[in-house]
Amino acid sequence: MTSRKGSAKAKRIAEFKSQLGGMDDLFERETKRVTAKSLEKERTLRKKACESKNRYDSERDAREAIRACAEHGTLGLRCYRCPYCDGWHLTSKSQNA
Ligand SMILES: [Zn+2]
Repeated sequence: MTSRKGSAKAKRIAEFKSQLGGMDDLFERETKRVTAKSLEKERTLRKKACESKNRYDSERDAREAIRACAEHGTLGLRCYRCPYCDGWHLTSKSQNA
């Protein structure tokens, strides 16, 4: 008894969903473009902040390396947790810079 009404509703929902789908495609294309750009940026950052540096498995190891560097005259180093490889790296950049 409600089958006609139900199918009309289903049709409206299908139309609505197809419209949404079209918007999703547009949004997805834009997202892919932005993602490709930010991926490239991230790759450069990663190379600079991670892959080109020595990696330490723990903060303790990194701090020991900082101490060893200080003994050899390289001061002002600090260590940071790497968001890319989950290890630790040293940097000479000031934390306030
Ligand atoms: Zn790293």
